[in-house]
Amino acid sequence: MSEADILAILARLIAHDTTSRNSNLDLVAEVEAMLAVNGVSSRRVPSEDGTKASLIATIGPAHVPGIVLSAHVDTVPVDGQAWTGDPFTLRRHGERVLGRGVTDMKGFAAVCLAAVPEMLAKPLSRPLHICLSYDEEVGCLATPALIEALLQDVARPLACIVGEPTGMGVVIGHKGKRALDIVVEGTPGHSSLAPRFVNAVEYAARLGSAVQLLARRLEREGTRDALYDVPHSTAHVGSLHGGSALNMVPERATLALEVRVIAADDARALLREIEDLAMDVLLPEMQAVAPGARIKITSTIDYPPLDTPEDSDIVGLAKRLAGRNSVSKVAYGTEGGRYSAAAIPTVVVGPGSIADAHQPDESIAIAELVSSRAFISRLIADCR
Ligand SMILES: [Zn+2]
Repeated sequence: MSEADILAILARLIAHDTTSRNSNLDLVAEVEAMLAVNGVSSRRVPSEDGTKASLIATIGPAHVPGIVLSAHVDTVPVDGQAWTGDPFTLRRHGERVLGRGVTDMKGFAAVCLAAVPEMLAKPLSRPLHICLSYDEEVGCLATPALIEALLQDVARPLACIVGEPTGMGVVIGHKGKRALDIVVEGTPGHSSLAPRFVNAVEYAARLGSAVQLLARRLEREGTRDALYDVPHSTAHVGSLHGGSALNMVPERATLALEVRVIAADDARALLREIEDLAMDVLLPEMQAVAPGARIKITSTIDYPPLDTPEDSDIVGLAKRLAGRNSVSKVAYGTEGGRYSAAAIPTVVVGPGSIADAHQPDESIAIAELVSSRAFISRLIADCR
């Protein structure tokens, strides 16, 4: 169980700039080659446009229900961040290594790949599926197709472990998220004649206030889940743009809004209140003045919450392997919600701290990688 092996693989993964907007095929080819050296074949699940792919590698008997090890290999951009060195060259600073994605989450991918020889050393009675995805950072977009491909090829997995950074704590839940972009199209005109035109900014503002009222209602009377820092679902407007001059009725406004829900709440139902206000109340008002006025609503992010029962087998196994007695829930989203929605019980247990993710000079303690590797060793022993 060599730290050098993990770092060597991590360096190779970091060297590819797999910011979500880029192709990840070079990285995928490199991982395929690493697996092939060990005699392990893998399956690509390409994106629709063919510029990216997820990768699935099964070690052990595919017809037996096994365990998924899930990592995404896309990263957030480094644009505008003050890095003290090349983000795509792994650098060691004392007991930590730096590079884009070391924490989120090429570190865990490297740990899993470094463990492949150990997985192969003696036959497994239960298989391990290494599942690497893309486009996680832009809404966990690739995971549904990845899961579908996996389920075509192998017996339905018993469980999934997502290696997002939890400091190796056992996380059983996170909120779901749904986000909308709304474009309000009114009609332009001189403000001295304001009633004859449709003021897009004012209608967008009414949608924004409705989001605030929804947020207050959730805070006041929403269902509670005490394992979260903010123990209820939330709603929020992230941006509102429109208008250019005081004496012009603005013809266009845009807003971006989100809800983040605990498992007891339904993100679609909550946002339907906003959509209904837009389409059934505001739009008729706007069109009474200008028939060409419009409101366009686009869903931009939509991933489900994760809420794995504390008494489920995978939680017991993860606690045992991680040597933890307690579980927690986290504020950030993961692909775990997707696996859970596909009826694969899921926990999040991975190396590093989420506080280091997405930061300039993103870094991870080498000890965290080593402890994640030890976790995988114990999992391998459990699958013998
Ligand atoms: Zn991540």
